[in-house]
Amino acid sequence: MSQPPKPPSIIDLYPEETREAAALLKQAVPLMMRYDIPPNPVHYALWYTYSRGSEPELNRRLDKVVEDFDVFPPDTASKLFRDYIIRGELEEARAGQQQVIELVDDIEGDVSRSVIGSENYQQSLSHGLSALQEPIIDDLPSVLSGLQESTQLMQDQQEKFLYRLRAAQEEITHLRSQLERAHLAATLDSLTRVFNRHAFTRLLERALSETHKGLALVILDIDHFKQFNDQYGHPLGDRVLQHVGQLLRDLLPSGAFAARYGGEEFCVVLRDCVDLGAVLEFAEKLRNKIQALRVKVRRTDQVLDSITASFGCALAEADDSLETLLTRADDALYQAKRSGRNQVHPITSKTVLSA
Ligand code: GH3
Ligand code: MG
Ligand code: MG
Repeated sequence: MSQPPKPPSIIDLYPEETREAAALLKQAVPLMMRYDIPPNPVHYALWYTYSRGSEPELNRRLDKVVEDFDVFPPDTASKLFRDYIIRGELEEARAGQQQVIELVDDIEGDVSRSVIGSENYQQSLSHGLSALQEPIIDDLPSVLSGLQESTQLMQDQQEKFLYRLRAAQEEITHLRSQLERAHLAATLDSLTRVFNRHAFTRLLERALSETHKGLALVILDIDHFKQFNDQYGHPLGDRVLQHVGQLLRDLLPSGAFAARYGGEEFCVVLRDCVDLGAVLEFAEKLRNKIQALRVKVRRTDQVLDSITASFGCALAEADDSLETLLTRADDALYQAKRSGRNQVHPITSKTVLSA
C-alpha cells in the first residue's frame, strides 16, 4: 500500500537562496507599505509569496482584500496564511492535534481518578477538548495555554492539598502518640511499667475467652516487704518494685503478660504451657532472679540482704473463670508462704487440662 505524500515542512516552503529571497522581500515590503499592511510574520509570509507569484489564487485574494478594506482584517490574514502558506503543515497540525486530544484524554482519565479539583479541571479539559476538535486550529495556542493554566491550577491545588495532607498526617501522628500515651497511662502501672490490675483483669478475661488450653497463671508476692519498707524506707521499697517489674518484662516469654496486681504482688499469665512443670520452671527462674537482685543504698553504698518472693502457680482448667483461676493460684501462693516463703508452689487440686 502506498504511503500518502508527506506534507512539506515549513523549511520546504521557502527553498530560495538568500539573495533571491532578499529580492522577493524587496518587492513585498513596498507593497505592504503601500497598502498599510501591519509588518508581522504572517503578512511578511503572505506578501513574500505574493511577490513570488507561486500561488495565483492567493494573489487574487490579497488584491481583493486591499481593494475592499482600508485596514487588512487580521482574521483574513490568518486564514489566508493557513490556506496558502501552511497548507501541508495543516495536516501535520491535525495529526498533532489528534495527539494532543489523546494526551488530554489520558490526562483527563488520570485527573478524574484524582480527588482534588477534578471537577473544575475536567471542565477546563472538556472545554479544551471541544475547542481542539474544531477543524480550525488558529485557537490552538490559546486552547493549549488554557489547558496549561488549568493544569497549573490543578497542580497548585494538589500542592495545597498535599501540604494540608502532610499537616493532617503530622496532626494524626501527634494525636496517635497522645492516645498511645493515654492508653499506656490507663493500662500500665506507672512505677513498675507492667500492666495495672484493671488492664490485667481485662487481658486475662480475654485470654480465657479465647482458650484455656496452655494458659497458666503465676502470682508472686514479695516476702516480708512491710519489714523491708520499715527498715530501709519506702523510696527504696519502690526501687525494689521497679527492679521486679523490669525483671518480669525481661523474662516474659512470647505471648505472656505481666501485671502488678496490687501492693507488692505481681501476676504473670503464660501461654502454650504443655504442663504445670513448664509453669513451675518459669516461676523458679524468676524466683532465682529476684533472689539474685542486689539493691544498693545509694547514700551509703550498702548492699541489702537478698529480696525474696513466694510464688503460686496454676494451670487453667476448662471450666476456670477469672475468679477461680486467681483463687487457685492465690491458694498456691498462700501455701508457699506457709511453707517458709522464697519458694514456688503449684496448686494442689487437679491440674490436668481437658482437651
Ligand atoms: P509477706 O511475706 O507475708 O507477704 O509479708 P509482707 O510484709 O510482704 O506483706 P504485707 O501484706 O504485711 O505488707 C505488704 C507491704 O507492701 C505493705 C506496704 O508497705 C508494702 N507496699 C505496698 N505497696 C507499696 C508500694 O507501692 N511501695 C512500697 N515501697 N511499698 C509498698
Ligand atoms: Mg508480701
Ligand atoms: Mg502482699
